[in-house]
Amino acid sequence: MIGLETSTFRDNSRRVALDAEDLIKTTAAYPRARLSNLLKGKKGLVTGVANGNSIAYGAARAFHEAGAEIMLTCGHPKTEQYVRPLLYGLGNPALLLCDVCDDEQLQAVFERIGKEWGKLDFLFHSITYAPKEDLHGRVVDCSREGFKTAMEISCYSFIRMAKLAEPLMKDGGCLLTMTYYGAEKVVDHYNIIGPVKAALECAVRYIASELGPKGIRVHAISPGPIKTRAASGIDRFEELLDQAARRAPIHHRITIDDVGAVAVCLVSDAAAALTGLTVYADAGYHILG
Ligand code: NAD
Repeated sequence: MIGLETSTFRDNSRRVALDAEDLIKTTAAYPRARLSNLLKGKKGLVTGVANGNSIAYGAARAFHEAGAEIMLTCGHPKTEQYVRPLLYGLGNPALLLCDVCDDEQLQAVFERIGKEWGKLDFLFHSITYAPKEDLHGRVVDCSREGFKTAMEISCYSFIRMAKLAEPLMKDGGCLLTMTYYGAEKVVDHYNIIGPVKAALECAVRYIASELGPKGIRVHAISPGPIKTRAASGIDRFEELLDQAARRAPIHHRITIDDVGAVAVCLVSDAAAALTGLTVYADAGYHILG
């Protein structure tokens, strides 16, 4: 009996060693997750696609690959020319114009969803803005107008969308928004967006608590830095990119596909027990001291 236990122990220890080796190989290769059918039958709204580099585009691609039906919004008529060519690869979803400062446009999007789908299973909110002069200055120098604009577009728009999504999520659902580590710790050059994202993360927890009884789950995804149009507005962003990949425990530069895969997991029924989280898609950077 003792012999058997010992040999089982030996076998197990060998298996653990092999698994660890495999894990290192897997980590180094950084595989692309297989998402097919995880979201089959689900319908979702993806906001904030400006071009093929947008995090929202990575999410839209992942949702489509996972079998969901999606609708897209873009925030400005000028961005339509960059977004239209992407639609074919996403199963030709509807593309609606929606400036989140315009209540009528916002309402029209959710009315269209109500008419066309009669329900909504998930929402991906991927929108941020701060006026350049406020973004590039110190937090203490931020103008009243700049602060209001940044808050309205980057935080209040999520609260408003949650309100409009609620009646459509009759069978429950999932609301996701995008945040960054600069909400929690001081990150050079992130400036006024830090406090704005902190408010957004807090709003996520309150909305999760309010809508939880209806089966609506709410999360913020916090990715490592990714080169996008919005990110190009942050001073010395290249330094942030380099530092993140060098220091993060998994030495991987986060991509829009990584964020998309995390979003699919959170929307899927496999994540039914989770709500109110800030989920770090940052190769582990946030655990460092
Ligand atoms: P992006 O420029 O591709 O997306 C930003 C989007 O915000 C654009 O589609 C733009 O049209 C939209 N927007 C701005 N003002 C709007 C308005 N009034 N109405 C409607 N839409 C409006 O850049 P991104 O990096 O993909 O940003 C998406 C989200 O990810 C943002 O919330 C950003 O803070 C967050 N994020 C980005 C990074 C990064 O490193 N890129 C890291 C963490 C979090």
